[in-house]
Amino acid sequence: MRLTVLGCAGSFPGPESPCSAYLVEADGFRLLVDFGPGSLSSLQRYAGLHAPDAILLTHLHCDHILDAVSYVVVRRYAPDGPYPALPVYAPGGAPDRLSAAYGDDGTVEDVYQFYALQPGTFPIGPFTVTVDRVNHPVETYGVRLEHDGRSLCYSADTAPCDALLRLAQNADVFLCEASYLDGVDNPPDLHLTGREAAETATKAEVGRLLLTHLVAAWGSEAHTLESAAGAYTGPLEVVRPGASYDI
Ligand SMILES: [Zn+2]
Ligand SMILES: [Zn+2]
Repeated sequence: MRLTVLGCAGSFPGPESPCSAYLVEADGFRLLVDFGPGSLSSLQRYAGLHAPDAILLTHLHCDHILDAVSYVVVRRYAPDGPYPALPVYAPGGAPDRLSAAYGDDGTVEDVYQFYALQPGTFPIGPFTVTVDRVNHPVETYGVRLEHDGRSLCYSADTAPCDALLRLAQNADVFLCEASYLDGVDNPPDLHLTGREAAETATKAEVGRLLLTHLVAAWGSEAHTLESAAGAYTGPLEVVRPGASYDI
C-alpha cells in the first residue's frame, strides 16, 4: 500500500501545511483518512479532486473534518450532475456535525453514506481496518490498516494509552501524532510529545516512525525530533505535505 500525506499540521493549518489528511492506496482503491482544513487543495494537487473511494474520520474535531464540508459542493454540484454517495466511516455524530457545519438547514446525507465507527475489525475496499478508542477528550479512533501482509497504524489524536500500543504492534509504519513539546507541563489525556510517540513506537516494535500533527506556531520540529530520537532507534522523520511512502 501507499501512503500520501496531504496535510499534517496539528490543531490548525500551519504556514507550510493544511491540517490532517492522509491518502492510503492499494489495488487502485483510495481511502482518505481525515479531511482537515486546507487538505482539499492538497487532494487536487497530489491525487485528484475525485480520488477518494471512501473516507474515514478518526474524530470530529474541526482540524480533522472541515474539508469534508467543503467537499459537499464538489460532489453535489458537479457540472455533469451529482456524484454517488461516498462511504464515510466516522463517529456516530458525524452526519449531524457535518450537516450543521454546511448550514442551509439541510443534510449532507445525499453526498455521504455514513457508517458509525465502533471498536473492531472490518473491511474497507481491499483494506482490513481495525479501529479502537484512544485517549482524547472526544470519541476518537486510532486506526490500523492492513493489506497484503503489510500494516500502517495511525494514532489519530491521543495521549499515551494501551489501545494505541495494541494498534501499533509490529506495524511496518507508525504514523503518530507528536503535538506537544517534551519538558513542559502539558495537559493530560489529550496529545503525545515526541518522546511519548517514540516510546510507543519502541514498545510496539514498529518498523518506521513518522511523526505528524506538530503545531508549528507553538513548537519546534528540531526539539520534537531530538526528543523522539532519544526513545526510538529505528527510522524516524517528521512528515510533509506531498510526501509519499510505499509500505
Ligand atoms: Zn487534531
Ligand atoms: Zn483532536
